[in-house]
Amino acid sequence: MSRRESIKKLREQLIRRRGALHRALEGDLSLLRELHQERTGDILDAAADTMQDELNSQLVEAESRELNAINSAIARHGRGTYGDCEGCGKPIPLSRLRAIPYAIDCIDCRRKAESRSVGGASRMWNRVFDQAEADLV
Ligand SMILES: [Zn+2]
Repeated sequence: MSRRESIKKLREQLIRRRGALHRALEGDLSLLRELHQERTGDILDAAADTMQDELNSQLVEAESRELNAINSAIARHGRGTYGDCEGCGKPIPLSRLRAIPYAIDCIDCRRKAESRSVGGASRMWNRVFDQAEADLV
């Protein structure tokens, strides 16, 4: 299969996935609304509800993030830039696109971006540990 045909197939996959996500999100949001309506005055219930809400809203957030990624991938299809790395401009290998159809960068650029953000996260952790040690003193 040529790259062109593969990319056409991936577009169909993205559109199907978008439809599935739309339905999932609608379901999650109506579940959230139902949970709010069933709320009782019990404190323990309220704590459990809060935890459940937290999980549900994380799920909704992850789903909407994926939905955004899919929408912009479909938009890139329309512009004819789908499958090009946003970091270096080279074509993203098909194997990567098949694994993550809404990938916007090649593995090299992704690694570079991730090593930057992981560095940031570990700096934050160091601060937390510094703080914990300061509390002990
Ligand atoms: Zn790249």
